Amino acid sequence: MIIDTHCHLDDPRYNDDLDAVIARALEAGVKGILLPGADIEDLPKAQAIAHRYPHVFYAAGVHPYHHQQYDEKVLEHYLEDDKCIAVGECGLDYFRLPKDEQAKAEEKAAQKEVFRAHIALAAKHQKPLVVHVRESSADSFEMLNTFAAGKVPSGVLHCYNASEALLPLAQANFYFGIGGVLTFQNEKKLGEMVTRIPKDKLVLETDAPYLTPHPKRGQRNEPAYTAYVASHLARVLGVEEEALHALSTQNAKKLFKAFEKLN
Ligand SMILES: [Zn+2]
Ligand SMILES: [Zn+2]
Repeated sequence: MIIDTHCHLDDPRYNDDLDAVIARALEAGVKGILLPGADIEDLPKAQAIAHRYPHVFYAAGVHPYHHQQYDEKVLEHYLEDDKCIAVGECGLDYFRLPKDEQAKAEEKAAQKEVFRAHIALAAKHQKPLVVHVRESSADSFEMLNTFAAGKVPSGVLHCYNASEALLPLAQANFYFGIGGVLTFQNEKKLGEMVTRIPKDKLVLETDAPYLTPHPKRGQRNEPAYTAYVASHLARVLGVEEEALHALSTQNAKKLFKAFEKLN
């Protein structure tokens, strides 16, 4: 059994064939799936999908690109739902910052404020935190170490970016989401860094429909392809594929307790 801890099945690219996508995932052994929240307007759709499939869950949050949408009342409404098992995705994304220095500083400050609000929500509701980090490792570490460590029950650095600065978060019960990037031929650093992540903190993800792993690169990604990430990671770590499945699934169940009852 494999768990895809991060995939956006509420994306319109799955509108026409979601049942088939889920069926292919099950066939590939992907028997647990988490849909992170990204855009607040898509949460009703994520909720509906999670309620349609027993092994699919969702999280409530707003991606840093949509931080203006943050609405605590709306997110808390979803957090009361049994199938809403985490807060996020949330975090800092400095990839598309404005050029103007003042506008840049304002955007960073606004992202940090909303990130901090998500962290507080996870602490209040004692839910795991799904974190998005892009070009922001130092600030992300600082925020998580200050406000989340010891306060949220667990968390995941989804699409772990191979930054050494984030590794100490393993001690604060943060997990590291490994996805298709690991299979990219020009990606050497992540291959080295994954060997330094504590084995009990590794989880798998696709981030579908994005970041499609080799050998499906160029096509729409889907949760069935978690299996490609798993076999690549097993090779990098020098363990049997079966052992990697067992390990990453056990980790995902500790990270997200709701997965415990799945098998
Ligand atoms: Zn993300
Ligand atoms: Zn995502």
